[in-house]
Amino acid sequence: MTVDGRRALVGLSRDQLAAELLAFGLEPFRARQLWHWLYHRGVTDFSLMTTLAKPVRERLAESYVIRRPGVVTDLRSCDGTRKWLLRLADGQEIESVHIPEEDRGTLCVSSQVGCTLTCRFCHTGTQRLVRNLDAAELVDQLLLARDALGEWPSPPDGRLISNIVLMGMGEPLFNYDAVATAVKIIMDGDGLAISKRRITLSTSGVVPMMKRCGEELGVNLAVSLHAVTDQLRDKLVPINRKYPLAELIQACRSYPGLTNARRITFEYVMLRGVNDSLADARALTRLLKGIPAKINLIPFNPWPNAPFECSTAAAIQAFGDFVNDAGYASPVRTTRGQDIMAACGQLKSASLRSRAAVDDILAEKDAALVA
Ligand code: SAH
Ligand code: SF4
Repeated sequence: MTVDGRRALVGLSRDQLAAELLAFGLEPFRARQLWHWLYHRGVTDFSLMTTLAKPVRERLAESYVIRRPGVVTDLRSCDGTRKWLLRLADGQEIESVHIPEEDRGTLCVSSQVGCTLTCRFCHTGTQRLVRNLDAAELVDQLLLARDALGEWPSPPDGRLISNIVLMGMGEPLFNYDAVATAVKIIMDGDGLAISKRRITLSTSGVVPMMKRCGEELGVNLAVSLHAVTDQLRDKLVPINRKYPLAELIQACRSYPGLTNARRITFEYVMLRGVNDSLADARALTRLLKGIPAKINLIPFNPWPNAPFECSTAAAIQAFGDFVNDAGYASPVRTTRGQDIMAACGQLKSASLRSRAAVDDILAEKDAALVA
């Protein structure tokens, strides 16, 4: 429901949209037409929906809205990366980032405002305020990026936005229902039509939700590993205290649909002197033995008062070589959009908190996690 009493249409599943319109007196084929306008053509104005009779368009506009989030900032990096800070209806803010590459264009989407988790190297983890995004707010990030890039109607190929990664702010498997609805809308072949093969969900390791994600959505999985012992991972990625490595690795091994052609991506942030030794690299390849895997080495992206530094280029190179020699594709993710602070959570809370204040927030959130 929106402020003026009109209901939002974006974010309803196909079935929900059909039911909504049926109750409004429109037959199911009208819902199909509307779906096309919303998600294939990207229209935000009912009067442009010319396959519907004029009086129907007018009635729809009286009861419903198609509204995009507000754009607070729209930053372009010299490398082509573009980042939007978006304002939601309740004033909360989230980020989406578009990363153009030669063979694809990826939109990085947020799943929550903030994050309840507290990974120590992640700026989003230091934010106190957290709420789930709803399906509309998830899909809106793609619609808005498509507006900004002028990518309507949905082109069949050569798209500026060909891939989606759920790697922005928040833990998507803590907001599963909304994420699932949104992903199904995005995958629908009559609209946005981005295939599940081109959608990747990144999780810090919410073990109980992984199987369901694979079975119901069939999207690619990325797992934020970052450490190869429970002792270290408990510290860096505190959800490990709840779902330790053995359980996480087992859930990866049994992720539905896994083959050599469809591998899990293991993300590994390179932290100087913390997790970047050759012994770590060796332990990593042992841990993942037998799992169809890619390893993504991510140079740590610093933020004010962060308690880590990025590994040296030499350490990253040596680690990467070891992992490659062991037979894993391990691209080092190049840092993009640094001049616009494109890394997760950085734009939103550019305000500086003292280390002590951040530690208080982390301790409070961690207590809630294990409770
Ligand atoms: N919550 C999910 C998805 C969002 S985070 C998850 O944790 O997987 C997306 C990725 O960015 C994760 O692998 C996360 O560990 C990584 N990341 C977070 N902060 C980072 C930083 N400062 N530098 C490099 N990578 C970071
Ligand atoms: Fe949350 Fe992911 Fe950041 Fe961890 S890395 S705090 S799970 S957003």
